[in-house]
Amino acid sequence: MAAEAIVRPTTMNPNQSRNEENPLEAMNARFDLAAEKLGLDQGLYNILKVADREIAVAIPVVMDDGSLNVYRGYRVQHSVARGPGKGGIRFAPNVHLDEVRALAAWMTWKCAVVNVPFGGAKGGVCCDPSKLSMGELERLTRRYTAMIMDFIGPDRDVPAPDMNTNPQIMAWILDTYSMHQRHATPAIVTGKPLELGGSHGRVRATGYGVSLMTREALYRQGMDPKTCTCAVQGCGNVGSVSAETIAALGVKIVAISDINGGIYNAEGLDMTQVRIQLEEHRSLDGFEAGDRITNEELLELDVDVLIPAATENVITSRNAEKIKARVIVEGANGPTTPGADRIFEENEVLVVPDILANAGGVTVSYFEWVQNRIGYYWDERDVNNRLERIMVNSFQEVCAMAEKHKVSTRIAAYMLAVDKVADVTRTRGIYA
Ligand code: GLU
Repeated sequence: MAAEAIVRPTTMNPNQSRNEENPLEAMNARFDLAAEKLGLDQGLYNILKVADREIAVAIPVVMDDGSLNVYRGYRVQHSVARGPGKGGIRFAPNVHLDEVRALAAWMTWKCAVVNVPFGGAKGGVCCDPSKLSMGELERLTRRYTAMIMDFIGPDRDVPAPDMNTNPQIMAWILDTYSMHQRHATPAIVTGKPLELGGSHGRVRATGYGVSLMTREALYRQGMDPKTCTCAVQGCGNVGSVSAETIAALGVKIVAISDINGGIYNAEGLDMTQVRIQLEEHRSLDGFEAGDRITNEELLELDVDVLIPAATENVITSRNAEKIKARVIVEGANGPTTPGADRIFEENEVLVVPDILANAGGVTVSYFEWVQNRIGYYWDERDVNNRLERIMVNSFQEVCAMAEKHKVSTRIAAYMLAVDKVADVTRTRGIYA
């Protein structure tokens, strides 16, 4: 049977994605454009276009009532050219393979943009963790780990938290893997609890990185943080820490939301109150510091800065025109579709793209992995200083690339990343 060839589209138009809300198509549209601008040769294009390896597993779990459920799980390794695969694992009811493929490729580009020596990977388990008991969640995590065990490892592929996964889940992965290795292997995961070899600053790293990128973007636009307003979509780990650290720059946070909707207060929300509310209730339910708004309304508020820090595809060609923010910093992966990119370019909105804006998490994951391997641990100030240096430097590189090639900051970030991965792939050559 003839092998299925990878066909490069002839029209490099990011707005011609067939389904702008399929994350894989959205990622590919940007990759194609960056490849075109770079003049990437066909062979390298073919290699980087598809994931190196895709693992799909069926995970049986004995439920608390004695019944048996089987969950679908994935681990996709997009590229291991620059180092071990790296990327989170998400637990969510609607996880699908194209989403995990896109997220894995985004990890490849993200690690290359901030120049940490990892490839890109991502995992997903199709489940609703809010409906699982702790025991069920633990059994699901351990069985999933056992099923992908041959493909992960400190030098192979290093998982981390993502949507609905956390340090406790990383601890179960670490333990399962270590039991099979017959010795503690802390570098098998990052984002684990401090006492198991986690890094200071890791939990807050993504949100802190988003605030660093907000600061840089505002300076670049000549905007004074102290006179700016900001709306944050999402108040999970990324959204809540982003809001808190952006407020510390002097920016007034006027709105924040969770999955059920948001709170808006033109006078600014008190971040201490928000933090207490989230610590106590883990949602904004019953929080009466302002007017209730929908998640869609939050995006369209008259603010200077918008932080989409919830999920994919919230800004599309349907609502981009209505967005008033001049600066958008993408805390989530893939919040903006290619159709919306075009509108932001026309409207001269500065977008700090996900593969740069939220790279603080994986950068500190890299620090965690380094600390595990040298067995020597840094304090939080040290971690944050190193993170700031890397992110500010990457921001400047992306802006310089955008100016040089007259492309958006998103395409500039892809160009930087694709060029680095292509270069390594070319130099390593093809093992035959
Ligand atoms: N899940 C995070 C991301 O999407 C962190 C990944 C990691 O630290 O490996 O960037």
